[in-house]
Amino acid sequence: MNESLTQISVKKINNNKVYACIYREKAISKNMLVNKLNMSLSTVEKNLKALTDAGMIYADGYFESTGGRKAKIYAICQNYRYSIGIAILSNCILISALNLYGDSIANLDVNINFEDTKAYYDNLQTKVIEFISINNLDQDKILGIGIALPMVLNLKTNQVIFSKILVGDSNNIVNNLKVCFKNYQLSFYHDSIAAAFYEHWINKVNTAAVLLLNDHLGGALIINGQVQLGDNYSAGLLEHMQLHHRPTSSCYCGSKGCSECYCAANVIKEKSKTDIDNFFLQMDRNTHYQKIWQTYLQDLALIIKNINRLIDGKIILSGTIAYYIKDNDLNTLLKYINDTNVFYIDRNRIISGSAGAYTQSYGAAICQIKTFLDSFDNELI
Ligand SMILES: [Zn+2]
Repeated sequence: MNESLTQISVKKINNNKVYACIYREKAISKNMLVNKLNMSLSTVEKNLKALTDAGMIYADGYFESTGGRKAKIYAICQNYRYSIGIAILSNCILISALNLYGDSIANLDVNINFEDTKAYYDNLQTKVIEFISINNLDQDKILGIGIALPMVLNLKTNQVIFSKILVGDSNNIVNNLKVCFKNYQLSFYHDSIAAAFYEHWINKVNTAAVLLLNDHLGGALIINGQVQLGDNYSAGLLEHMQLHHRPTSSCYCGSKGCSECYCAANVIKEKSKTDIDNFFLQMDRNTHYQKIWQTYLQDLALIIKNINRLIDGKIILSGTIAYYIKDNDLNTLLKYINDTNVFYIDRNRIISGSAGAYTQSYGAAICQIKTFLDSFDNELI
């Protein structure tokens, strides 16, 4: 190989190692980098200068002195790049921007019913442009836009495999969204898969089932630290597992008695005839709501018991309803799970998601960040 090319690639490898190490440690000194990376001081210094000049890292004060001169703290510029995530729901749009640590910079929810019309796509495009502008997100720093949809789709070809929630020709919807954001690097995700990417990023779980407790129920599996897509992108559709024997409730998928019929947030809304916020706000004073909630928890317990027979891992309660689940609810849920369960599930096996309704827009955004970080070290995340 040409010697100069070798030198360039060694330089690049060292640069990537220094950046990845600073990212991983969050705050690190020059000497700590030398020790951790087993690199010479001059190589570390050269790379620190190059990364600082590129605007990728910055000196963030000094460590406390341990006797000698105080050491400078280096950290990555979290806003060197951003990622945008959009979740398209039947009754609203969620837009989020995340920085390189996956922290939320800004969120917006727009209450608008989905329509496969030019007016809808124009409105969506305007909202996203306004969102980027109002939050001063530099266009050149946007890695891309990830879009979470209530559709099972092929992540490589974007071909839709199953879609019943958004009204319209599903492949046409995807194509219209592509036109809408043609100036961006674009990715599409099934919303539950996007939620699982986010929960995995946050919780670093090896084996887990993610239950996305939104208006519609969603499910996804994480096994060996990987979100499972299956051979046909249809793995982990826990919402369409039949929950009860001789069911009467019909699911939008065409089947009867799916988990969706019992643990979608829409079920709570329909039974209580109020919205989710008000339902939980009034719960303490309303015995009818309390009864609805206990039935919900019993059905959720049944789903969890069934899933755990398959995966023997963590259960991540994610999405809108997860935001309202308190400690005493988790204790009740565990009681329902363990009352007739020989395979005991303890409290630390249940994780409550913290991003609420935004989990899916965060998840759609996180994949672009992961791809960016993978270019430095594919084991960084
Ligand atoms: Zn179903």
